[in-house]
Amino acid sequence: MGIIEKLRLDGKKTFVTGGARGIGYNIAIALAEAGADVAIVDVDEAVAKTSAEEIAKATGKKTLALKADVTKKAEVDGMIDAVLKAFGRIDVAFANAGICKNIPAEEMTLEDWNQVININLTGVFLTAQAAGKVMIRQGGGSIINTASMSAHIVNVPQPQCSYNASKAAVIQLTKSLAVEWALKNVRVNSISPGYIGTDLTLNSPALKPLIEKWNAMAPLRRLGKPEELQAIAVYLAGDSSAFTTGSDFVIDGAFTCI
Ligand code: NDP
Repeated sequence: MGIIEKLRLDGKKTFVTGGARGIGYNIAIALAEAGADVAIVDVDEAVAKTSAEEIAKATGKKTLALKADVTKKAEVDGMIDAVLKAFGRIDVAFANAGICKNIPAEEMTLEDWNQVININLTGVFLTAQAAGKVMIRQGGGSIINTASMSAHIVNVPQPQCSYNASKAAVIQLTKSLAVEWALKNVRVNSISPGYIGTDLTLNSPALKPLIEKWNAMAPLRRLGKPEELQAIAVYLAGDSSAFTTGSDFVIDGAFTCI
């Protein structure tokens, strides 16, 4: 079998949290294009439904829209049960839901801090734990977490200490789970995108005015596109990455090189 065939995901059962839009949507459609069935998990049920329908129409694969808040264990567990009920197994879990708050550290309320940590870190843990239990039972699987280049550098000029800390923790969580579950055949990796043009950046009143500043700092002088993360997602989801676990993949147009 050639490498392109090995990269295919035919028969794989997958889900993507925060899959209704942005990076998650682009990853979900890529998984389906590669042959997988995909559940779109999001707090926004209406957009999740539209996205799942679009992906099914475009790819002919089975899709599912599920509402779940990744900070709530009962909702994450319910989501896992619903994916199992619809698909019978879970081969690939993409823990991608995340938010960013730009607040100076000295003004940050505990509530703001907790919201970012709860979604970006605890949400990834709850998702990976619930999917990991299923994968251990099944004899294997691939978990991919969306971290960020903010795990590696401090973004400027916007203040975002809770986001940066949460994403650095996602990488260490990823490595910890990869080691714990290595012999259970459950692989755990993360991707660390640089600035990507999505709602989070393009439609955030706080961040939008900063795009020109970021582009001036960026070696490629532009934001990344969400579809530029699709190939790494398909690679990490499939069996051709069998020796890849505990790794973080920085896809940032060399932003963190300077
Ligand atoms: P978007 O805001 O475009 O999409 C994120 C999705 O996650 C939204 O549909 C959002 O729903 C959903 N979501 C938010 N909170 C929860 C929750 N508690 N449970 C379930 N779903 C939730 O963001 P991006 O696509 O840009 O970001 C996706 C991931 O990539 C995030 O983890 C982000 O930190 C990371 N990232 C993004 C970068 C960028 O430049 N865009 C760079 C590096 C990393 P709703 O909109 O209704 O709140």
